[in-house]
Amino acid sequence: MMNAAGIYLSVPYCRQKCTYCNFASAARPIAELPRYLKALESEILHCSEIWEMAGLPLRGSIRADSVYLGGGTPGLLNAGQLSRLLDAVRTAMELAHEAEITLEASPENVTAESAPAWAACGINRVSLGVQSMITKELRAVGRMHTAASVADSIATLRQAGIENISVDLIAGLPHQTAESWEATLETVLKLEPKHLSIYMLEVDQDSSLGSELLQGGSRYGASAVPSEELVVELYTRAVERLADAGFLHYEISNFSRPGCASRHNEKYWTQIPYFGFGVDAHSYDGECRWGNVDSITDYLERMDQGRQPIQERRKLGFGERLEERFFLGLRRRQGVSLPDICSEFGNSVCEPYRVKIRELCDTGWLEANGEWVRLTDRGVLFSNEVFAGLLLGETS
Ligand code: SF4
Repeated sequence: MMNAAGIYLSVPYCRQKCTYCNFASAARPIAELPRYLKALESEILHCSEIWEMAGLPLRGSIRADSVYLGGGTPGLLNAGQLSRLLDAVRTAMELAHEAEITLEASPENVTAESAPAWAACGINRVSLGVQSMITKELRAVGRMHTAASVADSIATLRQAGIENISVDLIAGLPHQTAESWEATLETVLKLEPKHLSIYMLEVDQDSSLGSELLQGGSRYGASAVPSEELVVELYTRAVERLADAGFLHYEISNFSRPGCASRHNEKYWTQIPYFGFGVDAHSYDGECRWGNVDSITDYLERMDQGRQPIQERRKLGFGERLEERFFLGLRRRQGVSLPDICSEFGNSVCEPYRVKIRELCDTGWLEANGEWVRLTDRGVLFSNEVFAGLLLGETS
């Protein structure tokens, strides 16, 4: 039987845009949100017709055991809006009773009213965008919470019965130092989240801070961003400290208490199907990958006009599937099973990978025995280089 799928719902609205953010989210007028949610609900309820319109293969009822509301800040939604979306999922798909249902939220979204309402809707996991516990660092990137409000949010979620709490942190924010990072880690650990995601600041054109780092300027604090070497040091320190605290480092950026890995995100790395709805949401059905338009205006127009929102779709070839098996699987610290891959794809196509793997083992970035291949602690820091080193022009 096919593994249960994951469902992703994109809510690309935020009260204000964080300077480091390169997502398709925007600080759009909240008054527009009801129109967007209506379109999103309609996309979920009519997914079969939409996929048919887009030329995707027809499928029977989808069985899912995770829903992830991301964005954006879906924590802005009220209980009625969340219930409607989750009801639409339950109508269009077979959603397991014990499904993991995650809501991404900012600490300021968590209140004595919202937390119990979320729990009543079926939300059983909250991923909090904390990023730092130092007020100066938070203000520099446009975040309005404080360390005290993070602690209050977590206590409020627990009172409402939501115990499965994840905290996102970023290494590389303006003004961050080794000492301030240590303080952030220690303060967060005292709050005992079940899961942490630690990201290194991404420098690219699509965020205000990234673009300032690339092109210069003084508005977003680029000059106060720590050096690349320090960011690597901060991440490495987090890996050590979280291991000491009993967290499993199960994916490059993700750490969990035993049994608390994100069921939804694991699907992305193990090629289990997932179906995304809303702006810039992506899907994978085991054979094809497809993605929705990344402009809110375009999405709303298409949905209003009864057109489908899918802008790209691609059936994966043999070589791409094999490559993805390595690249996605190697993100997980347990790595990939070479015998399993060889028996699925054939020994002869795996042979060139064996050669590349041996080379990358010699550099100290990969380690392997007859059963598995995985990134070393050092390899985690050079994962992009490892993935590039594994690319095989000749078999892909
Ligand atoms: S980081 Fe999160 S809260 Fe900030 S703008 Fe991006 S999506 Fe919104």
